[in-house]
Amino acid sequence: MNNQNIYLPYLMTIEKITDEAPLVKTFRLKFKNEEEGNNFSFLTGQFGEYSVFGEGESTFCVASPSTRKGYIECTFRQMGRVTNALAGLEVGETVGFRCPYGPG
Ligand SMILES: Cc1cc2nc3c(=O)[nH]c(=O)nc-3n(C[C@H](O)[C@H](O)[C@H](O)COP(=O)(O)OP(=O)(O)OC[C@H]3O[C@@H](n4cnc5c(N)ncnc54)[C@H](O)[C@@H]3O)c2cc1C
Repeated sequence: MNNQNIYLPYLMTIEKITDEAPLVKTFRLKFKNEEEGNNFSFLTGQFGEYSVFGEGESTFCVASPSTRKGYIECTFRQMGRVTNALAGLEVGETVGFRCPYGPG
């Protein structure tokens, strides 16, 4: 964990949205704070908690390579409350991101 407080999410800007299949999207999320983005690290296979403010958090794996700096990608399927809210967001909007969790 790179944050001092594990409950405090990084603030991320949605930089790119890719429609992979019906109800499945990939978001590229850029760290708003450049220093946090450079210091952030994770192991392949670890997951994060992605928050839509006012809706809640959902769990997704980090889909991008751990060697990339400044951004991460996640791929998710619309299932319910949070993933539907996430799918309704647009490029430029902000989401929360807590990570890394779980074994690599
Ligand atoms: C460690 C981990 C990693 C995960 N990684 C990914 C990922 O990379 N991409 C991704 O799309 N999802 C992933 N998931 C699943 C994802 O977390 C859930 O689909 C999501 O949190 C659902 O949230 P929601 O608020 O949209 O749906 P909710 O409102 O919580 O659920 C809506 C309905 O769908 C059902 N439901 C929810 N999830 C599933 C499911 N997976 N299978 C069957 N029924 C379900 C619920 O029981 C409920 O009836 C992961 C889960 C875990 C635990």
